[in-house]
Amino acid sequence: MNKDLVTEFSTEWIKYSEYTTKKVPFGDEYIVPKKNSKPIKYTISEVADQMIMDYINIGKAFEFEKYKVKDMIIEFVNNYGLIGIISYMPLNFNYISSEKIFLNSNNDLGMEEIWDRKEYLEYFFPFDLKEKFKFKGNDITTIRDEETTDEEVFWGGSREFSIPFSKYYAEKIEDIGIIANRVYNQFIGAYTFDFETPYIERNFKGLDFFKARNITINAKAGNTHFSLQWVFNSLASALDTILLVKICDKNQPLRICKHCGKLFIAENVRAEYDTPQCRNQANVYKSREKNK
Ligand SMILES: [Zn+2]
Repeated sequence: MNKDLVTEFSTEWIKYSEYTTKKVPFGDEYIVPKKNSKPIKYTISEVADQMIMDYINIGKAFEFEKYKVKDMIIEFVNNYGLIGIISYMPLNFNYISSEKIFLNSNNDLGMEEIWDRKEYLEYFFPFDLKEKFKFKGNDITTIRDEETTDEEVFWGGSREFSIPFSKYYAEKIEDIGIIANRVYNQFIGAYTFDFETPYIERNFKGLDFFKARNITINAKAGNTHFSLQWVFNSLASALDTILLVKICDKNQPLRICKHCGKLFIAENVRAEYDTPQCRNQANVYKSREKNK
């Protein structure tokens, strides 16, 4: 398969120009677009490498340097937008048209398995639910007069795709950290995978515990030819996909610097250090060890 096709995330995304943190009365801290912020469109493929490294670094800090996590998440969201947990979690893809919303029993956030739709929406719209939805009996109408840079980015207007782009949509800071931490651990699982054990003796043979979810692929017509367009219903599922592609990328793998422990994209398969400085330092230490 042509590598260029596989790694082409031509999908466009939306973030807001500025975000702010806000607490609900009972204490959970959320992150949400600022009142007069503007939507900004960007292309996932152009930021994919940096974005996946930033995300994994959040997941790592969540485990080892918790005091840093909040600022890292605010910076991440200002760069790429919220991760779309509302559409990432449900097992029923078209959850807005369903009265009940079903989640995996062992979902990342330890959330209930079955949700009443309105309660579920309140979890992600704790401040401005009525600015986005109208409730009438069992019917829910989405209010669509929000300013966007381009309607096309909503892929024909499926509500589950456009909801994470709402100006009123909010995510718990802690939730983003928990999901990023699970993704970090999946990366470590792949990175430290034991290829030395013969295939037949391995307890697990691949990363089948890690699936990118809720993704479709279509062929988008340009001026002269079609190109693959990955349709993600959330940035979280785009990030899962980017990581899976990175894990399988033999030419420019995602690595951990052997000297400083930072993540980097190796420009060639033999690279072990993120910077020449780290390589030199490591060599100095190595020769000191030898001369002892
Ligand atoms: Zn380094």
